[in-house]
Amino acid sequence: MRHPRWRRSLAAAIAVTAIIATLGTQPTYAAPAAAPPLSAGEIALVRVELPNEDMVQELIAAGADLANRPRANAGKVQVDLVLNDSDLAALTARGARAVKVIQRAQDGTARHQASVRAAALRRAKGVRTDVRTAEATDTLHFLQAYWWVVGGQTFVQTQVATTATDDPDVEITVTWRTADGTTGSFELFRFEDADEYQYHVALPQPVPSRPVQLVATSSLGGVSRPTTPLAWPNATPPPLPSGYQKDFVDAYMTPIDIRARIARLGRQYRDLVDVINLPHQTQGYRRTAAAYLGDPAVAAVVVESVRFGDQNMNGIQVRSVDPGAANRPLTARLRDRVITVSLATDATGATTSTTNDVAAVINSQFPGRFTAFIEDGSAGLRMPVAGPTALDDGLRGDAPPRPWTVQALRIGVHRDGSRVGVLAYSQEHAREWATPLVTLEFAERLLANSRTDPATRRLLEQVDIFVLPTVNPDGANLSFADFNFQRKNMVNHCTGAQRDPRLRNAWGVDVNRNYTVGSLFDGYFGASTNCLSGTFAGTGELSEAESRNVIALAAAHPNIKFGMNVHSFGGYFMWPPGAYKVPGRITLPRPSIDESAYFLASARRIVGAIASERGTVTWPSQTGPVADVLYSAAGNSADQLYYELGIFAWDFELGTDIWNPATAEWEGVGFQPPFAEAHAEAMEYATGLMELIRVAAEYGTA
Ligand SMILES: [Zn+2]
Repeated sequence: MRHPRWRRSLAAAIAVTAIIATLGTQPTYAAPAAAPPLSAGEIALVRVELPNEDMVQELIAAGADLANRPRANAGKVQVDLVLNDSDLAALTARGARAVKVIQRAQDGTARHQASVRAAALRRAKGVRTDVRTAEATDTLHFLQAYWWVVGGQTFVQTQVATTATDDPDVEITVTWRTADGTTGSFELFRFEDADEYQYHVALPQPVPSRPVQLVATSSLGGVSRPTTPLAWPNATPPPLPSGYQKDFVDAYMTPIDIRARIARLGRQYRDLVDVINLPHQTQGYRRTAAAYLGDPAVAAVVVESVRFGDQNMNGIQVRSVDPGAANRPLTARLRDRVITVSLATDATGATTSTTNDVAAVINSQFPGRFTAFIEDGSAGLRMPVAGPTALDDGLRGDAPPRPWTVQALRIGVHRDGSRVGVLAYSQEHAREWATPLVTLEFAERLLANSRTDPATRRLLEQVDIFVLPTVNPDGANLSFADFNFQRKNMVNHCTGAQRDPRLRNAWGVDVNRNYTVGSLFDGYFGASTNCLSGTFAGTGELSEAESRNVIALAAAHPNIKFGMNVHSFGGYFMWPPGAYKVPGRITLPRPSIDESAYFLASARRIVGAIASERGTVTWPSQTGPVADVLYSAAGNSADQLYYELGIFAWDFELGTDIWNPATAEWEGVGFQPPFAEAHAEAMEYATGLMELIRVAAEYGTA
């Protein structure tokens, strides 16, 4: 199979399809079985082990999007990439290794292939060849030390910093002791971000009971002071009254389902709800129609309609014909929905038109109606007699092919701007199917309990709540009907050969890279200029209706002081800054000490509320500023809300890893887990949003 030119470099290959989902610290003792190979052209979510950290930076710079923070183990990292067989081959040729296939495209039956993440392992103890001197001894201190219990199992997690920041070989071991004198230890791993040393850290470690003392030691001889770990998050929401109503979602919901739910809530609770139509209609579930004239593997021209396929363009045919006479010019005409290209002939009657000629005649003959470009690899070749072949947009779903009006719910007793406002919004990323379940469950709990629970009623007196369940309905429609890994919207800004219909699943703009603060266009890291990248930032700041809608809603209601941007997966709870510049890892301005303390204190309450549902504890290592606990995301919406509009702007990533006691491993849940898991996530994060409302109510009445 011929590989188009865009696949020939690693950067281009990854920019096209890479969607890094998870990076985890991995053990080195158990070599996983070889991953099943992908068939030709197949796309899948694959766990890949990269030979070094530089390759991770290269992937990010090339536009890969990460759901988890890069973490290294013994110089190697594992990443989960959405890629095709060619991409995988390109990586393998450079020393990467496929570990396992997690999920295949359009594989509805195997959505939940639990990813493997191991408890930390002592690094292999090689003989040190470097010479240490006495002054090499480092100083250690704990940045974080927390313990908690999930499902009867106690965990401890720490971050430790060494003063030997430039020594990549420093090994740090944490020794714990419980009240009954039991002891044990675990190894930490060096964490660098953007080439800057951050600290040493490990995944949460199982311990037999609450640890009362921790000591860190380093291979350079440094020893920390003993520390007593703190309980995490050490916050519990108020108990629910008997008869409290919840559980209002029973299946994944498409944008059409969500629209129906919004309409029903608006009708059912007229006294408490306004349905807001946001000002910027999206493009809708639609694409232009295209066809290959000729054989793409031999010689072909791509013919594309200027209008969308649903605008009477699907089904128009194109063909090239031999006029059957000598010395004929090249012509093109459209009659009865068939474009006929009559090829030029020479004195002997042989056809002489090339692919270049055919593309040019279509472009000149049908301006504003059809465009044509030469299929990659076909330039200058003799155009064969071909077709007829039908133009098609390739869309199989039944979502209406019309511009979409994005809707929000406004919920409260006093919806006049006099009360502190909270904005909860979800599904900026189309494939994150569980996220609108969270915001809709939250909305319906508020409304259903408003008539029976005095505490809920009081919150609705005090807070003005805005709920935007699906920011990106077009991408969501595509994700449900056509390509489940779709992350971006459906607006195709590509030009030239990047409009080849074989690249359809890579088109679109990453809505959460299209905002104006700390953006790619300002020089920040973590977004791409490549229209085929998973983190394509758009043609400019706020080029997309989806991002403009979020800002329009927030800006039109200056009483909004709190925001929650709901994503999945990985189990994070984050706040600004969410972007930095490289080199130097220069972040957007840090919140003040007071504000940082407020972010953290409020976060602990909300993490505690999430944990109250089924014991899920968001790890302390994944609670903090985006740029510190995840990665740099240039031009994201939370930074926009915080820095431009003065909103305390948080992000959820649903879906904390689940501890498997049988294997002693943390297992990832994925973008589209079996519904039972998505349902559980909806319940726990809706409870988290409820705690955010309490935080806001206290702020508003303080
Ligand atoms: Zn997301």
